[in-house]
Amino acid sequence: MRTRTDPVGLKQGALGDDADEINFAITVSTDPDQTAIAPGYLQRTWKKADANGQLRTYFSYKMDRPIADFYAIVSARYAIKKELYKPRVGNPVSLEIYYHPNHSVNLDRMMSGMKASLDYYSANFGAYQYRQLRILEFPSYRGFAQSFANTVPFAEGMGFTQKISDAPGKIDYAFYVTCHEIAHQWWGHQVESANVQGGTLLIESLAQYSALMVMQKTYPKEMMQKFLKNELDDYLGGRGFERKKEKPLAEVENQQYIHYSKGSLAMYALQDYIGEANVNRALHNFRDKWNLDELAKNGRYPTSADLIAEFRAVTPDSLQSVITDLFETITLFENKVDKVTVKPAGKAFDVTLTVSAAKFRADSLGNETPTKLNDPIYIGIYGEGKNDQDKLLFYQKYRLTKPKQTITVRVNQKPTRAGIDPLNVLVDRNSDDNVKAVE
Ligand SMILES: [Zn+2]
Repeated sequence: MRTRTDPVGLKQGALGDDADEINFAITVSTDPDQTAIAPGYLQRTWKKADANGQLRTYFSYKMDRPIADFYAIVSARYAIKKELYKPRVGNPVSLEIYYHPNHSVNLDRMMSGMKASLDYYSANFGAYQYRQLRILEFPSYRGFAQSFANTVPFAEGMGFTQKISDAPGKIDYAFYVTCHEIAHQWWGHQVESANVQGGTLLIESLAQYSALMVMQKTYPKEMMQKFLKNELDDYLGGRGFERKKEKPLAEVENQQYIHYSKGSLAMYALQDYIGEANVNRALHNFRDKWNLDELAKNGRYPTSADLIAEFRAVTPDSLQSVITDLFETITLFENKVDKVTVKPAGKAFDVTLTVSAAKFRADSLGNETPTKLNDPIYIGIYGEGKNDQDKLLFYQKYRLTKPKQTITVRVNQKPTRAGIDPLNVLVDRNSDDNVKAVE
């Protein structure tokens, strides 16, 4: 891909290299009993026979503000679920799901995903730009969901037809995918990256982060390990299959294991280290400066350097190196718990952990060099919680500088397991040895 300073790439948006924003209007005809949908707002609909005397239904849509030259058209015999919703910030939005009449089982999960997303994103990043938001089911010709201006085509197998369990420890996948896609109304459709290296950090990694923050509000903290471990395994696996060069996030070249999986991990770690409110302040500033309404003034699209500058601006000196590790280099840890012992102390328990920690930098071909460890890393102790779910009795960062360290912590409940970075906040080459049962 073009580099981040390439003058041509900076003038092109990542969603299309042959136009900036367009004024969008479209008329679509379809079978008489189908509903056709495209970005914009429905202006009118009518029926008319074609040249062969076959009746067709026409739908005319128009968008009231410029959009990227990037849109989808769908048509089907839809049932429709609608609800007017007032997000925490901004005007009411008509939430609509167009679905196969037999595929209604997860609609409430998607509706609550749209509401939770609009609430979190509008309050933290700025208002939603449209007055309508539509999810449009399509058959499993392809297995993805994708966000276009106020329209989100969504494969049936991505959330409509799954059996989703509400049991503790299970993830509502329909809700999660909805949150990711709605985030693209901001990251992609309010702010579009330049067509250069690092562009997908601004689109996919930020959508992953946004969805993770909604998940964090919805699920107990302990559950975040499921998301993070899954992303960590995908990232490490993806590195193993890289055929060219691994790039740091700041220069990612449309490499999914980097912009989705490492992107989630890096953004989660960033908010963990510098605080969710600070990350969101940086993102709100970034969106205010670089949204498409500012395109003419800026004279170019934003890059990962512009985003990282906003992160650096809200990060104290003592944690600037975290940004270097997460975004500008390929940094890996090797954290491990060697031993956990417990001693009763009256009604409490003293837990002693021996942990090892090491830090590496990798080059684009995977050659690793040890680098100095001076990092705040979580120590966690679990006990039994409700419904047989593990509960964190203790979860706190320690600044680790030595390859081996012994730490003693007092907890008020009987500990079951303990270890280092138990939620997988850091990119750990081997994350299966982080937690151990107490001896
Ligand atoms: Zn996405």
